[in-house]
Amino acid sequence: MVGRTQEEIEKELSKEYIPLSYAEYEEGLSNGKLLGLRCQSCGKITSHPMPVCQWCGSRDMERVELSGEGELLTFTVIRVAPEGFDAPYVPCLVKTLEGPTVIARLDLTPEEASQELIGKRVKMSGTYKYEGDKYSAGAHVCPVFRIIE
Ligand SMILES: [Zn+2]
Repeated sequence: MVGRTQEEIEKELSKEYIPLSYAEYEEGLSNGKLLGLRCQSCGKITSHPMPVCQWCGSRDMERVELSGEGELLTFTVIRVAPEGFDAPYVPCLVKTLEGPTVIARLDLTPEEASQELIGKRVKMSGTYKYEGDKYSAGAHVCPVFRIIE
């Protein structure tokens, strides 16, 4: 069947529109928790929070806590920081054990970062707070991962 029944739509509309706000996501990070949303329609997980499932568009999602572990997909070294950031730093993409890919920082110096690290197991080890720039509406936090393998 294509689309959803009226009953399914009403069920979704009866829920809180966003079961995990960005502020709650960042609060979770600050408490050492990587939070996401599990879609009740397709079962996939997204992180960071979104108002609809990134895979099927459903709004029927519930908050879940991820393990905070995953695989380092890739990274780069920033030596000239954008406004509101301090350089150098090592932003990265982590494929979590639960599925979603998250943007984070690696807990490494640029001198420690090398291509051999791609594919290594990583675990969330804390957060980094940045003051932001004229585009980002103030300070935010992002997860920091360290190599565990
Ligand atoms: Zn879905």
